[in-house]
Amino acid sequence: MGRILSLLPAGFLALMLISCSQPQKEIREKLYVFGTLVEIIIRDADEDAARKALVDVNAAFQKMHRDWHAWKPGEMSRLNQAFAEGRTVKVSPFLLPLIKQAKGFEAASEGLFNPAIGAMVAAWGFHADELPKGAPPPKAKIAALVKAQPSMSDVVIRGREVSSTNASVSLDFGGFAKGAALDQAAVILKAHGINNAILNAGGDLNVIGTHGDRPWRLGIRHPKNWGVLASVELKPDEVLYTSGNYERFFEHEGVRYAHILDPRSGWPVDHIVSASVIGKIGAAADAAATALTVAGPKDWHRIARRMGVKFALLVDDKGRIYLNPAMKARIKLEGKETPELVVSPGL
Ligand code: AMP
Ligand code: MG
Repeated sequence: MGRILSLLPAGFLALMLISCSQPQKEIREKLYVFGTLVEIIIRDADEDAARKALVDVNAAFQKMHRDWHAWKPGEMSRLNQAFAEGRTVKVSPFLLPLIKQAKGFEAASEGLFNPAIGAMVAAWGFHADELPKGAPPPKAKIAALVKAQPSMSDVVIRGREVSSTNASVSLDFGGFAKGAALDQAAVILKAHGINNAILNAGGDLNVIGTHGDRPWRLGIRHPKNWGVLASVELKPDEVLYTSGNYERFFEHEGVRYAHILDPRSGWPVDHIVSASVIGKIGAAADAAATALTVAGPKDWHRIARRMGVKFALLVDDKGRIYLNPAMKARIKLEGKETPELVVSPGL
């Protein structure tokens, strides 16, 4: 889950794009979930209703932080401990839907999105607020974790009772929890009568309604500098999520090791530096963006199709951009350079 500091500039840039003309009243608030800053802009709303909605969103974020966090003490860490010890646990109705969602994402992504690889993410040192330092973990350690084949399909759900047939399963929902959080926040805002808003977690976004008489216009984060790679207009209730190896990484002897792992090798993805997805559900788009980063240029079409993605864009380490025609039709490149575009149909 992203660093606070790394998220500020991108959030700022996304806001710059939407703030060109705004005579109408806006209510802005900054909240945190999983240590990530979420900027919320509410438009055309009754101020009291908006303030009440924001109080409820904040309470929901705090509950998520407590119950869904992959490595801080809470319901999730207790569940992981139970898996390691072969025990069955009754999980809360708050966590259970996420476990079910996680199973679906893993199956749809052919295991490239694997929310059961928490032990691997921890072995790489990413279960800490501070970024890891020093050398990568020993190859044998990672190989052993891969060999144990942790998978969401090992997780057995009977009513609210949850267990794992594989003690190596360690849930880490960091790949889609931000999306799930913004989805719930959007539901809360709407329940309070908010019809136009944006929720921006450092460039991962859910929108509600429109920006006055035009759509919300936003920036897709550039993976190499803190600028905007492309701008895009989101329709009401669309979401935009970007995953990438620029977010959380460490370097050792000139090699970058980032927080998105290929579950087949247990090693960080290096060829794709970012993947962006436009969709309708934050959790699904968030999971898909992570999965497409792992899938890479050869497999991203198939995985995108299987995950129900209609608009996707990947950037590789040479700055080459892979995208489908529908995505190309929606974006406006913003950078000074003209990147090589590899457009391929089929989503
Ligand atoms: P995101 O920023 O949405 O791409 O999520 C990255 C986070 O997802 C990492 O910090 C890990 O907690 C987790 N993660 C890393 N690799 C994977 C993977 N292959 N499948 C699912 N989750 C992953
Ligand atoms: Mg993700």
